[in-house]
Amino acid sequence: MNIQFYNTLSNSMEPFEPLNAPKVTMYSCGPTVYDYAHIGNFRSFLFADLLRRFLEAVGYEVRHVMNITDVGHMTEDQVADGGGEDKMASAARRLKESKKQGTDHATAIENPDDPFQVAEFYMDAFLEDARTLGLKVAFEESENIFRATDHIPAMQAMITKLLERGHAYQCVDGTVYYSVESFPSYGKLSGNTLDQIRSGAGGRVEAEDQASKRHPADFLLWKPDESHLMKWDSPWGTGYPGWHIECSAMASLVLGDVIDLHTGGEDLIFPHHECEIAQSCGVTGESHFARFWLHARFLMVEGEKMSKSKGNFFTVRDVLQGKATGRDVHPAVLRYELIKSHYRANMNFTKKGLSDSAAVVRKLREFTASMQQKSGGEAAPIDQTHPIWGEFLNALSDDLNISKAMGGIMTWLASSPTDASEALAVCQKLDTILGFSLEEPTQPLEEAEAGGEAEQAESLCKQIDEARQAKDYASADAARQKLIELGYEVSTTKEGTSCKKQLV
Ligand code: AMP
Ligand code: ZN
Repeated sequence: MNIQFYNTLSNSMEPFEPLNAPKVTMYSCGPTVYDYAHIGNFRSFLFADLLRRFLEAVGYEVRHVMNITDVGHMTEDQVADGGGEDKMASAARRLKESKKQGTDHATAIENPDDPFQVAEFYMDAFLEDARTLGLKVAFEESENIFRATDHIPAMQAMITKLLERGHAYQCVDGTVYYSVESFPSYGKLSGNTLDQIRSGAGGRVEAEDQASKRHPADFLLWKPDESHLMKWDSPWGTGYPGWHIECSAMASLVLGDVIDLHTGGEDLIFPHHECEIAQSCGVTGESHFARFWLHARFLMVEGEKMSKSKGNFFTVRDVLQGKATGRDVHPAVLRYELIKSHYRANMNFTKKGLSDSAAVVRKLREFTASMQQKSGGEAAPIDQTHPIWGEFLNALSDDLNISKAMGGIMTWLASSPTDASEALAVCQKLDTILGFSLEEPTQPLEEAEAGGEAEQAESLCKQIDEARQAKDYASADAARQKLIELGYEVSTTKEGTSCKKQLV
């Protein structure tokens, strides 16, 4: 099969061949665990999961690693020199305050002013959400999920090598910086030049740094700081690592010096991934760190990037528990919503989108159930030469063209396939990539109903309230009965009537 991906490094589509087929090495930048991950973050993680599942489906053995950033990610991460405050420290302050006031979930953290406990809490929450959404790497926690704070020695070893090779230098106060001028390819991934960076795009010189930093874009490798809550001894003083070194250190430790694929969201291209390349290649002397760099575009809300700092975000829990739409949402529906648009196009998060996704998931589930029944659960053996499964894989082989892949499946469903064992086999294969748990009928069905029914339910709730106001209790009861027949749980409170699709 000819596979091609868009490589950010060359800004072009390139045929994909792993270095050591059938093995594929893949690294994805994971979450910074100072808060719940939002569904924008999950768009990036799920795109990586889709990529990995596709490669597995065509026969590769993928080792997929994801890191957990629990130290060193600074609030001013758009510049490369480690400015601002560690996100873990500011979260600890915020949570301590809210625990005092008993205002939010921070009450579940025994000592919220301890950033290690904060990290533990949000890492567990992330892994739980990730498993709920079917992220395969999260099920392999012990082998493939790596915490930065568990790998300080590997980071220190790398910093030592960078100093030895003249790629890093230490300032009088002990701070260790990477010297971007020592690495001629710096800027290649993001299309930046050192001159551009010097004049403002991603560089900055703090007054106190001016005397010691050689170039504004030189970035932090180690910061001696006794007052930092997360700190380790080092040859450069007790302190903490810069954000970028963790990924270089963990990727080479687990996957080797040159890896096949590296993923992340588009905001990581610069400075984070640019810095990773400079560090890794600076140590190994190789021309590449990752051979393919794939980046997901942002999930947007009303034209703006979904982000914690803007406050315009939903967590996975918010969406599944109906906080985004007023209706509970099945995990498969959210998963599909977040993977169904091409990863290199921005996508908007909307109620309508979720309800369209629900219709697709429901259709596939119902079809699978009926094929199971008709075939007696006997799936026929099929391989990549099968016209439907083969066409699906083919579409994905073209830079993960999921819309084309799903378009083919919808046409196939509309043709009412008659060979139930073969159709069941196709559904099972599809599920290895889509991750909808198509054969788990006991799971709750999606709640974001497709078009008609949702609107009908809303209007019935309204009718109940209007009838009750007019003291027409018979009509209110009739409307309530209708909702129950449609499978809704109805509740009327002082605020009015609302309904929730009963979980099947
Ligand atoms: P963070 O937790 O900030 O380290 O980010 C984790 C991942 O989420 C990174 O790969 C980011 O690029 C990605 N990301 C952040 N916001 C969005 C968004 N709105 N849409 C897609 N990916 C995002
Ligand atoms: Zn990273």
